[in-house]
Amino acid sequence: MAVSKYHPAESVAALARLGQGEFGENYIQESLVKQGILVEHPLRWHFIGHLQSNKAGQAAGRFNLIHTVDSLKLARSLQKAAGKVGRPQSVLIQVNIGREEQKGGIPEEGLPELAQAVAGMEFLSLEGLMCMPPFFGEPERARPYFTRLRELKEELQDILGQGLTHLSMGMSGDYVQAIEEGATLVRVGTELFGPRPDKP
Ligand SMILES: *Cc1c(COP(=O)(O)O)cnc(C)c1O
Repeated sequence: MAVSKYHPAESVAALARLGQGEFGENYIQESLVKQGILVEHPLRWHFIGHLQSNKAGQAAGRFNLIHTVDSLKLARSLQKAAGKVGRPQSVLIQVNIGREEQKGGIPEEGLPELAQAVAGMEFLSLEGLMCMPPFFGEPERARPYFTRLRELKEELQDILGQGLTHLSMGMSGDYVQAIEEGATLVRVGTELFGPRPDKP
């Protein structure tokens, strides 16, 4: 997936013309503006930013996959919003794999309970897990966190009795290690678009 936050719609269109179809965005308003401009392009949009429960209504039904469900409160808000749209919303649960205070995600102890709740919601479709390991500037140091997310997905599949499709992990600096550890979705911004412009 190409992470297009802060990049203008014309940059997204340029990659789309080269065959890129999956794009990731972090901010609802910014993303909806771009989606409107690019409505003629058959793109798949991913939401990868922090999502507040009170913005769930703006996100449900507008993204093919929301990667950042990390609380029961947010899951319930999305469930309600997707119910209004009348279509199930595909989601991933974000795990705070490095136990970093400043990062989103649920700590791994809370994962089984949240996953069971989400899997039981009529208008949410649980498709896997997402993580953002601590930043070391040395990609091999991210590898154990990717391995751990894969193990958590395997454990969860047993608990839920259901297959999970996706592991969303790896960014520009460490997508090789992430793929080697089983990523199905890598989130690459800088390597595809170049440096990010300032926030618009
Ligand atoms: C910005 C962002 C990325 C992309 O980061 P790059 O280092 O530019 O590839 C990936 N994932 C998330 C959650 C992001 O916010």
